[in-house]
Amino acid sequence: MSRNLTGFTPSGRLHIGNLVGAMRPIAAAQRADDPDATVAFISDLHALTLDHDPALVRERTLEFATLLIAAGIDPERSLLFVQSHVAEHTELHYLLECATGFGEVRRMIQFKEKSGRQEQQVRLSLLTYPVLMAADILLYGTTEVPVGADQRQHVELARAVAERFNARYGPTFAVPRAVLPPVAPRLRDVFRPEEKMSKSAPPGSGVLHLLDEPAALRRTIARAVTDSAADVAYEPETRPGVANLLALLAACTGGDPAELAGGFTGYGELKRAVADAVVAVLEPLQQRYAELAADPGYVHGVLRDGAARASAIAAPTVRAAKQAIGLMADQPPQG
Ligand code: ATP
Ligand code: MG
Repeated sequence: MSRNLTGFTPSGRLHIGNLVGAMRPIAAAQRADDPDATVAFISDLHALTLDHDPALVRERTLEFATLLIAAGIDPERSLLFVQSHVAEHTELHYLLECATGFGEVRRMIQFKEKSGRQEQQVRLSLLTYPVLMAADILLYGTTEVPVGADQRQHVELARAVAERFNARYGPTFAVPRAVLPPVAPRLRDVFRPEEKMSKSAPPGSGVLHLLDEPAALRRTIARAVTDSAADVAYEPETRPGVANLLALLAACTGGDPAELAGGFTGYGELKRAVADAVVAVLEPLQQRYAELAADPGYVHGVLRDGAARASAIAAPTVRAAKQAIGLMADQPPQG
């Protein structure tokens, strides 16, 4: 059996990197004959690890679910739900903490980066969230986790914890692996091409949000950072800004960034082509979003059904893990 899973944390606004790196690969992997083979969830619990606005997290959870459906995640062909609606996530989190080393999580790159940036007290959950992410993955017997490069280390942790738990307490979890999407694994901020495009980037960053007005998308792309070279070429190491524009174009139109470069003589022309391609992808998505947002009852219904389906898969995993790790069953064994 193969099953892939991706979480979306409602800690900012979804952008074209999320679409290319995560949402589209899920939509492409969905199967009518096995709707539980692709799992997409809104990881609202992970949004509580940094200073957060409660009303905004709630609002974005619904916005994210609506955007995922608008982007082609079809509840008839995949499993879509909100993490906090499925209590097994927090239940397994604790059990996995009992199989994870402090040193193992302390050295996670995202913890170092995010805790370093914080002005307020660093929440303990920021340290332990990779363990919650391991629970997210292991609950569903996930075999493949399609992620951008930034999340690879967390999937490695989930692997290590699963292997250790299985070795110590007996075979309980499927061991997952990270898979990178083939094109544009890591789109960059168009104003700061040394940084990846990110939901949590400060205002005024070069992030192309899925719900930005077409005019705003065009303005952002027009102001993208390039370089002073005279030609257009795909050289990610030395010319990251231009390479990122070519990667964006390739992600929107298909094709290979290095080959696409040959079709342009200057940056003005390249930016216009990128803007047209981005708008051509996002305008229809925004249209579907508006239709779905007009009927929130439908989206709530999808999420309610999704949570029930998710729980039916997750509950037996938690039961097996509790049994293996040494907890007494709350029911006498059957038969
Ligand atoms: P944050 O800044 O809060 O970490 P993010 O933009 O990195 O936000 P995540 O919630 O961490 O988004 O990731 C959601 C999914 O999108 C993951 O599968 C992640 O690998 C992918 N992803 C995130 N940013 C990019 C990017 N710039 N290019 C490609 N894929 C991305
Ligand atoms: Mg991230």
